[in-house]
Amino acid sequence: MKEQLNGIRVKAQEELSTVGSISELENIRVKFLGKKGELTSVLRGMGALTAEDRPVIGQLANEVRSFIEGKLEEAKKELMKKEIGLKLEKEVIDVTMPGKRKMLGKKHPLSNVIDEINEVFIGMGYEIAEGPEVEKDYYNFEALNMPENHPAKDVQDTFYISENIILRTQTSPVQIRVMENKKPPIKIICPGRVYRSDAVDATHSPIFHQVEGLVVDKGVTMGDLIGTLKVFAKSLFGEKTDIRLRPHHFPFTEPSAEVDVSCWTCGGSGCRVCKGEGWIEILGAGMVHPKVLEKCGIDPSVYSGFAFGLGVERTAMGRFNIDDLRLLYENDVRFLKQF
Ligand SMILES: [Zn+2]
Repeated sequence: MKEQLNGIRVKAQEELSTVGSISELENIRVKFLGKKGELTSVLRGMGALTAEDRPVIGQLANEVRSFIEGKLEEAKKELMKKEIGLKLEKEVIDVTMPGKRKMLGKKHPLSNVIDEINEVFIGMGYEIAEGPEVEKDYYNFEALNMPENHPAKDVQDTFYISENIILRTQTSPVQIRVMENKKPPIKIICPGRVYRSDAVDATHSPIFHQVEGLVVDKGVTMGDLIGTLKVFAKSLFGEKTDIRLRPHHFPFTEPSAEVDVSCWTCGGSGCRVCKGEGWIEILGAGMVHPKVLEKCGIDPSVYSGFAFGLGVERTAMGRFNIDDLRLLYENDVRFLKQF
């Protein structure tokens, strides 16, 4: 039995000296030390030994076991070193090869304009409010004083999901949602995407963007509205910019006005950009209609408010001298790179 054990030791050492991979190593471990391994089967025969021989053979068996375990560990370390070395050799980096240039994108002109507008109003203490683009007919029309069959619903024809669910035609429903849930004072702007079933041409798109604003508090007047819009126009188009109001009709404001800013290109003397007018229409505005306040649970005999809205595309086209709205949506990098 002694010879058997010494034989195992020699055989194991031989096999381990030529081992070439980690998986081979595992096979050797199983072959000698596993449950059905050579060492184990020799130890099974220990019952037949005399009481004197048993501890001697037992000790020898333990020695052989720890000898093989030690050799296995050594061989494993050696193999891992080799494998890492091979890997490093294979993965040589050619530092002289030209790199891949990463294209760094930038903000879309529409995002730029929205951010600029937000910035101006945040500076005046406004909060940004957002709401769903898929909206209830009630919030988009009825709560804004446009009941069923109101002619203004024709002008703002939209896409219907169902009879009462639509794609919003304006960001005004956000104002209604805020007024329903918050007590005045309210001071918000609502930037967002809106929809109308318009055919695509140089100045129309079924999808476009608006920024609307709403202020509701005690004693808010038309003077506050004009002052606010003046600050806004000067911030966005330059210190020399002036505004003018022309009477208009919107169902949700009374009185209502269309707001022009003096031309940012010629300053008011008339040019190609303003079509010789000296003024460019960019906003609609007015005092919030008492019926709209009432519908939102705000007492119009205590509170008053103003609201305004502007088209982001039209503002961007003016700012960047873009003559076709479609360019803003075509995602042509050659075009977008210019801004
Ligand atoms: Zn002009």
